[in-house]
Amino acid sequence: MNARPKKSFGQHFLHEKRYIDRIVSAISPRPEDVVVEIGPGEGALTLPLLAAAGRLTAIELDTDLIPGLQERAASAGELDIIHSDVLKVDFTALAHRLGVARLRIAGNLPYYISSPILFHCVAHAHAIQDMHFMLQKEVVDRMAAEPGSKVYGRLSVMLQLACRVESLFVVPPGAFRPPPKVDSAVVRLVPLPPAQLPDADPARIHAIVKAAFAQRRKTLGNALKNVMDAGAILAADVDPKARAETLSPQDYVRLARIAAE
Ligand code: SAM
Repeated sequence: MNARPKKSFGQHFLHEKRYIDRIVSAISPRPEDVVVEIGPGEGALTLPLLAAAGRLTAIELDTDLIPGLQERAASAGELDIIHSDVLKVDFTALAHRLGVARLRIAGNLPYYISSPILFHCVAHAHAIQDMHFMLQKEVVDRMAAEPGSKVYGRLSVMLQLACRVESLFVVPPGAFRPPPKVDSAVVRLVPLPPAQLPDADPARIHAIVKAAFAQRRKTLGNALKNVMDAGAILAADVDPKARAETLSPQDYVRLARIAAE
């Protein structure tokens, strides 16, 4: 217990019980759930999650933390630790191995790779029931932002096309050891059912969103000029004089469909 936290692994261990309790109650694990925790660390969330669900799979990159975690979990339930970089874990295969259609994923994420982890999970969204993550508050604000907001951007559009995004509550630096420099927040992501997923090529949507927000001060007609002309933008029912941050995620889906024609 109380190993020296490693900066290179993004280690900020939660120690304030009231926030741990709030996260666990937001997740509300039930015995039939198959919960996967990313980055269990010293087990602040692992142990209460394990107590509620009875079994848990945790993915941890830092070898030094694993023996302590195993020891502490021994009487709490059935803990399976995967020693790996989470970005190398195939969640679809993991759900299959654990015998369920969809996993529940949770974690106080290492902030240095929070966006790659989000996109990795979204790529396996069909095998995920929901996700509860602690992230920098600034990132959660961007994820949940609505069109017109200053922080609405690529992350907002791409995540909202895949999941329902719900910002839950803020966690101050003092709740962690060592305290991070910024406020954190807990977010819930619920993958959309297949019928609500965009009916356009994801790579094309991504390319258009990227081009639009790369020059967010320009009009769309200008920002997208290498991708589609003003006529095509109009055909998607979007004003070529509008700016990227005013378009809804669905507007981007329509642009991608027209661009593919
Ligand atoms: N869950 C613990 C808590 O709340 O106190 C620890 C959270 S700490 C912010 C992030 C955890 O993720 C650390 O245990 C760290 O070693 C682990 N980690 C860092 N990079 C990782 C990666 N690529 N794959 C899996 N775990 C990683």
